[in-house]
Amino acid sequence: MTQPSTDLHDLTVAELASHLHERKVSAVEAAQHFLVRAKAHADLGAFLDTAEDVTLAQARAADARLAAGAAGPLEGVPMAHKDIFVTRDFVTTAGSKMLAGYRSPFDATVVSRLAQAGMVTLGKLNCDEFAMGSANENSAYGPVKNPWDATRTPGGSSGGSAAAVAARLIPAATGTDTGGSIRQPASFCGVTGIKPTYGRASRYGMVAFASSLDQAGPMARTAQDCALLLSAMCGPDPDRDATSLDAPAEDFTRQLNDDIAGLRIGVPAEFFGDGLAPDVRAAVEAALKQYEALGARLVPISLPRTELSIPVYYIIAPAEASSNLSRFDGVKFGHRAQNYTDLGDMYRQTRAEGFGDEVKRRIMIGTYVLSHGYYDAYYLQAQKIRRMIADDFQQAFKLCDVIAGPVAPTVAWKLGGHSDPLTDYLADIFTLPGSLAGLPGMSVPVGFGAEHMPVGMQLIGNYLTESRLLNVAHRFQQATDWHTARPQGIEK
Ligand code: GLN
Repeated sequence: MTQPSTDLHDLTVAELASHLHERKVSAVEAAQHFLVRAKAHADLGAFLDTAEDVTLAQARAADARLAAGAAGPLEGVPMAHKDIFVTRDFVTTAGSKMLAGYRSPFDATVVSRLAQAGMVTLGKLNCDEFAMGSANENSAYGPVKNPWDATRTPGGSSGGSAAAVAARLIPAATGTDTGGSIRQPASFCGVTGIKPTYGRASRYGMVAFASSLDQAGPMARTAQDCALLLSAMCGPDPDRDATSLDAPAEDFTRQLNDDIAGLRIGVPAEFFGDGLAPDVRAAVEAALKQYEALGARLVPISLPRTELSIPVYYIIAPAEASSNLSRFDGVKFGHRAQNYTDLGDMYRQTRAEGFGDEVKRRIMIGTYVLSHGYYDAYYLQAQKIRRMIADDFQQAFKLCDVIAGPVAPTVAWKLGGHSDPLTDYLADIFTLPGSLAGLPGMSVPVGFGAEHMPVGMQLIGNYLTESRLLNVAHRFQQATDWHTARPQGIEK
């Protein structure tokens, strides 16, 4: 086989897929290349589990299908999964001590769909415990370093996914987004990510955090790559996820090159208030100018309940988490305490030992807001405001086609830089509204802020308009090269 002229890790998913189909490189060669790279950058802390024999067996099977002319669209392209997706062939921990060493008897639907498209799994990626967090510092297995500056967080909860893609340890990864966990780490690490409409991708086999919000999506370097992965990931799964939408699988690449002249971009006033750091504002405003140059029109809009999304989310998400996490009782899954007196004590000891501080905090808050006497005051009120937040978006979409703004108020902060959980919660302000409404949202690299840290722009679309969102991101990426920048410190 002839040597490819560029390093394999510089290729996008689309480029790698065509190299593989043209047999310029074999799936085994690609897998080996990325396995070596993952090992060389182990200090980033992105991977929690790899299994060379499993990866190489998958790669050999991909090569056989390529040789037989029976290849899937992404045949032989390596990727890795956030450790919140259960996998048969790799350990699944959800970033928790509770699930240390846990092996699932089955693969998550998203995992098996990407495998059906031919993708080869390199391993599992670090994340906040049960996806609760914004800095990946709630992982029981240590924080992940931001490849742009190892003293900073990669964001969270899909921090391992974002860091691995940014450092070119893999061309793409899965993430999950409950309140921003795909968009915010993508923004902090300068990669592209999309959270589709709630229900687009099956939640079967995704370790549950807040079921009415949890949604899977791809993270990669380009919008085109995200479109390729999303096409493989989505589609109804009615027998296994009752909330999976009855919307057919789509080719999300079909609109990528559409003209965006005349596109109406809604700019919410509430996303550009005092809390927005000047460096992030400057990068996002420059991107909006670029869109105008591409023929789009900026329309001022209002999302008046943006601020309320923080208390609403931090009632609803912990409420659902407190219920979902009751399954970890030392009987059915994972960790069980060694020393206990009776059954009740076994539950208590197991949960005291297995869960980290943030998870315990949320179980307590969730249990409180659902308890008799407080349910109406907190949980029910939050549900009502959630509906109003969703309605606000529908008002806005009468005036515009997509909404644009920052993903996060600042660039990635220093590891250990937020000493109390509230500071983390407040930083979720721009991603939570779209999550509560169940809308699709993206993060697209649009430049650099303080200390040369990446800034992401958020694009929010109406329900089921992912291919339009990807088109809007793709046209921007054709006109700019922010998404091709390489983290300083990560050698060729
Ligand atoms: N930062 C938010 C939280 O801590 C969102 C996490 C997520 O989307 N999984 O809950």
